[in-house]
Amino acid sequence: MVDYLANTEINSQRIAAVESCFGASGQPLALPGRVLLGEGVLTKECRKKAKPRIFFLFNDILVYGSIVLNKRRYRSQHVIPLEEVTLEPLPETLQAKNRWMIKTAKKSFVVSAASTTERQEWISHIEECVRRQLLATGRQPSTEHAAPWIPDKATDICMRCTQTRFSALTRRHHCRKCGFVVCAECSRERFLLPRLAPKPLRVCSLCYRELAAQKRKEEEEEEEEEQEPGTGAPGQPACLAGAICGASSGDDYDSDEDKEGNGDGEWPSHVEFYTSGVSWSSFHS
Ligand SMILES: [Zn+2]
Ligand SMILES: [Zn+2]
Repeated sequence: MVDYLANTEINSQRIAAVESCFGASGQPLALPGRVLLGEGVLTKECRKKAKPRIFFLFNDILVYGSIVLNKRRYRSQHVIPLEEVTLEPLPETLQAKNRWMIKTAKKSFVVSAASTTERQEWISHIEECVRRQLLATGRQPSTEHAAPWIPDKATDICMRCTQTRFSALTRRHHCRKCGFVVCAECSRERFLLPRLAPKPLRVCSLCYRELAAQKRKEEEEEEEEEQEPGTGAPGQPACLAGAICGASSGDDYDSDEDKEGNGDGEWPSHVEFYTSGVSWSSFHS
């Protein structure tokens, strides 16, 4: 149902329009066979608060960015390959409705739509695209996902020691493994999480113990294999090659989450999907 749009003039124009809205801050999006299926504003739950973000669903990628000028100018472009995506619907709460989680190995986050219908449209379209991408690439659905960061406001005290109270002077940190909000004391360690970054990242004390134990176990198993008769290789001294105890890796990613400016206005939550054959479709023309 999307194929008829591929390589059409209208599709090329829509993709060119998205590229121009991101300007030099975005990457080229036009590819042979790529189709822009729909776009709309979703609310993304960020570290500090929920913010409106523009989302574009293509047949193979999901692109989102912050809104500088509605319908004209976007920035902070993120591109997510759909074969890496898993969706998880979230239950309604009094404060938050129409939410779901977009999960990948590198990053997971919560978004919400303006209505139940919009939420359903987004979810069913994304899932259909993911299914087709997996078929096309022959990949298995991914099973390992990054933990979403728990928003700062969710807690005033460290979620590990439950003693440290956060304030202007006592800042919050996030464990890159479990996403919990923790104090500096409870997140002194760094650990290499290759799926997330090429350098060791901040982890909480509990995750550190678990990761270190897991790594030790893997190394012991490797050693046993190496020590099989005939190889003659001496066992390596047990060291946590992936772990750097207590050493800061320099940059802290805590401050990298979405440095967007004035995204606080009321944005229309209009959604448009371009595929035909479904009752809710609406076309640019
Ligand atoms: Zn703590
Ligand atoms: Zn943790």
